[in-house]
Amino acid sequence: MIDQIRGLHHVTSMARDARLNNIFFTQALGLRRVKKTVNFDAPDVYHLYYADEAGTPGTVMTYFPFPGMARGTPGTGEVGTTAFSVPEGSLGYWEERLGQHAVGDVKRDTLFGEPRLSFKGPDGDGFVLVETAGDKRTPWTGNGVGADVAIRGFHSVAMRLQDTAGMNYLLGLMGYEEIAKEGNVHRYRIKGEGNGADFVDIEVLPLMNPARQGAGSVHHVAFAVDDRAAQLAVREELTSAGVPITPVIDRDYFYAIYFRTPGGVLFEIATNEPGFDRDEDRAHLGEALKLPSQHEHLRAHLEQTLQPIEA
Ligand code: ZN
Repeated sequence: MIDQIRGLHHVTSMARDARLNNIFFTQALGLRRVKKTVNFDAPDVYHLYYADEAGTPGTVMTYFPFPGMARGTPGTGEVGTTAFSVPEGSLGYWEERLGQHAVGDVKRDTLFGEPRLSFKGPDGDGFVLVETAGDKRTPWTGNGVGADVAIRGFHSVAMRLQDTAGMNYLLGLMGYEEIAKEGNVHRYRIKGEGNGADFVDIEVLPLMNPARQGAGSVHHVAFAVDDRAAQLAVREELTSAGVPITPVIDRDYFYAIYFRTPGGVLFEIATNEPGFDRDEDRAHLGEALKLPSQHEHLRAHLEQTLQPIEA
């Protein structure tokens, strides 16, 4: 049994405009940009990371902004909603703040007894803020959102699937247990010690077509393990269960392995080491353009061609 997974590590999505993406996450949601780098596999595209002060796993929302990319068509086989945890009683503040930032489709509802505020990102990306009791994680307050209301990190992701069978088995293998069901939503929680981003939901939609990915779509969701030894142990367990999984890939700030899950959602297992302060001071995270060594020779070209993102 896999018992090394600690919850979510990061969620990576796609956008059509880097500047609007940066404004949305730093100004509307008040997260900290902790890294400005490029897509290691397509270095003419940014990879932007938004998180708490340090980029703690379980708080890290990342984006590939492909200039002018067409919007995705929501469907099954993808993460439909990314949920952030906020303190109890804070949704009134958020409703007003999101309104001031002209954020679309802001609505209140309740799921599993927790009050939520759902809204859309700049490309129709699905988000919710969930009032969570007793989330002890320290929020980033450097962008003008007070500690009494600020985002603590992820609460969960909700995947849209046509059925639960394969995913139910896989999540069980990964150390999750199903703890509740409401309507067509199944909720899973990590059994061992989590990092706060402890939940995964499956939204069962048997009649919905598969998604066509584009701007506003979640590209993949990553789960956290402490270190490379834990990652190799997880890789071995998944491989023996018949899951086709990539070799370990060095992403500079963590090590990654990837696999396509039953139903089509792309999963990653990422290490908590070495972290986002490996190449810049904690006080200045996310300010300078950081390039992996294999793309450093492109710096002059990229500095000229990448879209300026400061508002
Ligand atoms: Zn990733």
